[in-house]
Amino acid sequence: MKIAIMGAMPEEVAPILEKLGEYTTTEYAGNKYYEATYKGVELVIAYSKIGKVFSTLTATTMIEHFGAQKLLFSGVAGAISPSLKVGDLIVATKLSQHDLDITAFGHPFGYVPEGAVFVEADTQMIAMSKKVADEMGKSVQEGIIATGDQFVANEERKNWIGKEFGADALEMEGASVAVVCDALDVPFFILRAISDAADMDASFSFDEFLETSAVESAEFVMKMVDKVIAA
Ligand code: SAH
Repeated sequence: MKIAIMGAMPEEVAPILEKLGEYTTTEYAGNKYYEATYKGVELVIAYSKIGKVFSTLTATTMIEHFGAQKLLFSGVAGAISPSLKVGDLIVATKLSQHDLDITAFGHPFGYVPEGAVFVEADTQMIAMSKKVADEMGKSVQEGIIATGDQFVANEERKNWIGKEFGADALEMEGASVAVVCDALDVPFFILRAISDAADMDASFSFDEFLETSAVESAEFVMKMVDKVIAA
């Protein structure tokens, strides 16, 4: 089995590489891919760079070029749901692109013909995440994640995304990774630790909490990898 672990920014994959200690580095398609053997299983790890296009490229590369059969994403997000505070973890049940808009033709936001507004994450790994949370003594919320090529630091935009998509958190890569994995039939799991509340203080909060939240997420994702390997 080969498992992909992906983030968007260096800070999101650094704790994972640190835990692995030894890995090889391959440059491909303008990015670096790290490979390691972990508990008898092959891992490929990368940060994509920010946004839907780079994350699409990286997820596709991990699957099509490196042969990953499952994909886990670890990163940070802005909270929409008031119950999510900085450092809290959210597991995506389904994801949508909040900035995809051909509503002029009568379609709903997030929809293009032959696509779907939402892509659902792998239910088996979601179920595993409940066990991991119990074992770690952590409370992890499940919810909808909305993705767009936009750092949201605006209460009005955030509330609109919350209402339109029923979203609990927002970020810039999840839904594009979901589309890739869905199309290529690769089960995926998207975890985010909250770094900010997507409001006017978001950029300050993000800068302050990026590292600690990224570590929270990475630790959980590595426990998820352990569970996937043991299953
Ligand atoms: N600090 C970076 C930019 C970060 S962009 C720089 O200056 O280079 C925000 C990243 O964190 C994205 O990868 C996104 O997925 C996630 N994220 C966290 N909070 C977010 C928010 N409020 N809106 C959108 N994305 C957010």
